Amino acid sequence: MMCEKCRQADASVHLSLFEGGCEVHRFCEPCAREFLESSHDPRMAGFRWQLYGIQTEGFVNMRARIIRIERETFVVHVIKSSHFPDDSELTFRRGLVSDETWNVGVELNFICTVDELKALIGSA
Ligand SMILES: [Zn+2]
Repeated sequence: MMCEKCRQADASVHLSLFEGGCEVHRFCEPCAREFLESSHDPRMAGFRWQLYGIQTEGFVNMRARIIRIERETFVVHVIKSSHFPDDSELTFRRGLVSDETWNVGVELNFICTVDELKALIGSA
């Protein structure tokens, strides 16, 4: 998938934001750095975490792979997270992902506040 900014390089940095739906940004690394520096949106803390490993208080960052899909929930395997142990499994409500990424094997990179996370997480 191409970077949404330069449309030349492969987008290696993905970020999903949740606010009445799922908004996904896909950038190559140089564009992600540029975007991060020019943005004052606190939710961009997800890029900060992905690019520099810097965690922002109050936010949860996660890189995870969808391993199972059920009716209205899905299970992810945590690759790296600021909040959950590596290799743990979590169940989320479907609202977390857009239809195009609603597939087993898809890797998700997302950020949300701790409260949003509580609303998204399904019963285990
Ligand atoms: Zn780019």
